Amino acid sequence: MIRTGTEYRESIRDGREVYVNGERVADVGSHPAFRPLVEMRARMHDMAHDPASRKVMTVTRNGETQALLNALPFTQADWWAKRRATDAVLDMAGGIVTRIGDETVGEMWSLHDCADALAELDPQFAPNIRRHVERVLTCDLFHVSGNAGPTPDGSDMALHVVRETDAGVVVRGAKYETAAAYANQAFIKPTLSGWGEAAQSDSAIGFICDMAAPGLKFLCRDSFARPASAEDFPLSSRCDEVDTLLIFDDVLVPWENVIFHRQARAAMQVRATLHRYSAFAFMQRSLRMADMLIGVALLAVRQRGFDRQQTVQEKLTRLALYRESIHAHLTAAIALAERSPAGLMMPNQSLLYAGRMHATGQLPAMMQHTRELCGAQIALMPETAAFQAPDTAPWLERCYADDDWTAEDRRRLMAFARDLLNSDYAGHRLTFQLFAEGPPYAQLATVYRNFDWEGPMTLVKDCAGLSDRAAGADRLVPGDSAVSKWFATETPRGPAH
Ligand SMILES: Cc1cc2nc3c(=O)[nH]c(=O)nc-3n(C[C@H](O)[C@H](O)[C@H](O)COP(=O)(O)OP(=O)(O)OC[C@H]3O[C@@H](n4cnc5c(N)ncnc54)[C@H](O)[C@@H]3O)c2cc1C
Repeated sequence: MIRTGTEYRESIRDGREVYVNGERVADVGSHPAFRPLVEMRARMHDMAHDPASRKVMTVTRNGETQALLNALPFTQADWWAKRRATDAVLDMAGGIVTRIGDETVGEMWSLHDCADALAELDPQFAPNIRRHVERVLTCDLFHVSGNAGPTPDGSDMALHVVRETDAGVVVRGAKYETAAAYANQAFIKPTLSGWGEAAQSDSAIGFICDMAAPGLKFLCRDSFARPASAEDFPLSSRCDEVDTLLIFDDVLVPWENVIFHRQARAAMQVRATLHRYSAFAFMQRSLRMADMLIGVALLAVRQRGFDRQQTVQEKLTRLALYRESIHAHLTAAIALAERSPAGLMMPNQSLLYAGRMHATGQLPAMMQHTRELCGAQIALMPETAAFQAPDTAPWLERCYADDDWTAEDRRRLMAFARDLLNSDYAGHRLTFQLFAEGPPYAQLATVYRNFDWEGPMTLVKDCAGLSDRAAGADRLVPGDSAVSKWFATETPRGPAH
């Protein structure tokens, strides 16, 4: 099934307890903090029905039409189709949106891969896993992800089970979740924890949470969108995905929504493969960000007539290198895709995670190159109102217009650049990019776990004529990390058939 935008809007009109700045929100869909993103998500649904975009946004499997971004990936062609669909959404958005569901739903495909291993640990929840993977497809749900929380394990507000009942488990605690206030459901699970091997922790719980569940409270940060000054902040007015501190005030999770319970090992397994698919969508947004940086930088230097300076061209080239490296990692991740243990098609894991590290690690420097190329005008140009007021407009026209550029075009470009690079939204977006799929140290650890160390080691061992003993073949293995002992890291190598 594919829903319409209207059906999505109706689905979140359920009396949920949402607060912004301490004030209760009467209707999420019409509140200024959420309306732009609710409308964008609704347009995404409508794109799947619109004859102009239906083909890009849907796929038919077993006679059923599915939203293409929700569909399980079985072939490399599926990944190209997902890339096209994500681009169509980003084109529609006119900016970068991440938590509109197509990234977070990838966690369900990882769950599909883990299903057998989780069933071995605890068979009672196996049917739940399969049903929920299926349900996202058949109900076209807007799905988000809750992992990190504000308090350490063991504290009263770290998410944990407080009791079991015949109907399910009752949970208490808090999680961060971008976009939760206007989503349908979330996959809730722990962050990596220092549990001992035999741990049966009350925090080792994973479940699908209905966002309308009684006892849930959504404490949202205020939006960066300023509806009255959309001209001055063109990106944040459209694309601010409001983050939520989600409070579980003794929320009942029905047994049929539990994915694992009191199983530290299951939690480790799920966490270790969580971004196996969703890192692709995250990287694709990084590519869009890179294109925006290049576009802003190039137009800014062309407008000022600096684009023929060699040192300016060098900075532009650095941006191009950044962009093309992300593009290459994405493309190669499809070209050298790997078969997952459960038969799905995974983007090549080592290339994907290395690419993600490159995209996030270099982003601050790339934003700085772009800021330098924009120069002072990004910070000093007056607001739209001054370009329109009769007393000030003529002066601004004289300062900012030239033969090729109207003052209005120049103002628009710099308003866009400021919201991309300098506004409070821009700072937030950078932090999101750096942390939303885990902090940098955790992303590096993922690269470490997925890189095939054997190849380079054997190369030097053979070239240098070392003995097997010196290479320590029994000591260094792919996935040699603190958590690898909990799960099998090995996946079939080489291009998939
Ligand atoms: C804008 C934004 C949106 C987010 N959206 C979501 C969401 O939708 N769902 C969700 O679950 N989470 C979300 N997060 C949370 C994100 O997943 C966490 O910020 C991230 O996992 C890091 O956890 P933390 O901030 O609790 O780090 P903390 O545990 O508080 O650590 C703080 C910092 O200390 C350093 N540090 C800690 N331990 C180590 C170590 N062992 N080695 C090296 N350095 C270390 C790291 O630099 C780390 O970032 C979001 C975060 C941001 C900023």
